[in-house]
Amino acid sequence: MTTQEHVGTERAELLADADKRTLIHPHSVIGAPAEPLVLDRGEGAVVWDVNGRSYIDGTCGLWQCPVGHGRDELAAAAAEQMGRLEFYSSFGDYSNEPSIRLAERLLELAPPNMRRVFLTNGGSEGNETAIKLARLAHHHAGNPERFVILAREGGYHGMGGGSLAATGIDRLRAGFGPLMPGIEFLAKPHSVRGADVTDRLVGELEERIAEIGPERIAAFIGEPVLGVGGMVPPPEDYWPRVQDVLRRHGILLILDEVVTAFGRIGHWFGSARYGIEPDLIVTAKGLTSGYIPMGAVLAGERVLDLADGAAFLHGFTYNGHPVGSAVALANIGILEREGLLERAETLGAQLLAALKPLERLDHVLEVRGVGMMLGVELTGPDAATAAAGVQAGARADGVIVRASGTTIVLSPPLVIDEGRLDTLARVLTEHVTAA
Ligand code: PMP
Repeated sequence: MTTQEHVGTERAELLADADKRTLIHPHSVIGAPAEPLVLDRGEGAVVWDVNGRSYIDGTCGLWQCPVGHGRDELAAAAAEQMGRLEFYSSFGDYSNEPSIRLAERLLELAPPNMRRVFLTNGGSEGNETAIKLARLAHHHAGNPERFVILAREGGYHGMGGGSLAATGIDRLRAGFGPLMPGIEFLAKPHSVRGADVTDRLVGELEERIAEIGPERIAAFIGEPVLGVGGMVPPPEDYWPRVQDVLRRHGILLILDEVVTAFGRIGHWFGSARYGIEPDLIVTAKGLTSGYIPMGAVLAGERVLDLADGAAFLHGFTYNGHPVGSAVALANIGILEREGLLERAETLGAQLLAALKPLERLDHVLEVRGVGMMLGVELTGPDAATAAAGVQAGARADGVIVRASGTTIVLSPPLVIDEGRLDTLARVLTEHVTAA
């Protein structure tokens, strides 16, 4: 008998059992499978497990689903496209209508210097693409020595060869042998409780550029707001000042907007929030609200001018997927129609205000956020264990939050209602207070 033939508790137990016997989960311990939370369905800001228990989704999984769970419109867009043309490669001269329309739409929404779009399957692939394109652009323009990538401690860019090498989180880098060379790290851009750190960070950037030699540096990569590294918004003047320095030295700016785009911080792209025009923007997650894996790299005029005429021998089988593109277009339509970008600002400010009093606790370093991207960072020798405890405790009370290191990460769907937002804040406050 298979698990499908059982119902109720028996089905739940068999599924959990089969999970532990058969799957390797991302970010799990080999040979020591965790007790799985087997999810079954979702609607709006709520998901249900196979036992029928409901949970308020305080994280959108890993920052996807701005439009919430269970949107029939997105399922219909996927089904319609699958029925017409499920997939065909986009290599070389092959194309499809949804990808063309999506590229047009993204360029309408992006900063004005953006010119072209490369469609991917997700964020890591997007960052691999952007890093390679930045390096190729300088190589093609006659500067093959110009390959160094500046990255930041606390930055997260993915799990591929280049994207992991550019990730400044030690626990994620260990054990895999030598990573891609040519990456140089700068300090984490964190101003605890509003301390003025921009001068120090920009000064460090200038010094490192002088040490390495600007003629060797291809690009700087960073997230507008650190995500996995702890939901850390930079000081307001950080990005414009970094952009000025990079431009002066001909260094391209790759902005990793895998989390920050599509309303998460109240704008189509976080670049607009911080008033900058990067040379490459990498995005994913909110692009399709996670209904299907999809990402995009947007390329600006400077990088395209440098790379003009270069053979870009790069691409993954499923790039330019017509079904992903159709879902992305429908998802963008919902974000616009329902005013979810504005909603992110309003609800994010409410949630931040509700959690701010936690800063009075000695074991809370900071409560911070921008839009619907918030973090509660704990402090003390056992902070990471305490954060994991908060995650477990809240879940037992029907609220999903996520511990990332010492920070409890919040990024609810932008459609969450105020009642559930209050419950989320209340349950989190209880567990952080008791941590
Ligand atoms: N960049 C950022 C900022 C991310 O948060 C993530 C995923 N959490 C990635 C890149 C990698 O994206 P993916 O997991 O889709 O490869």
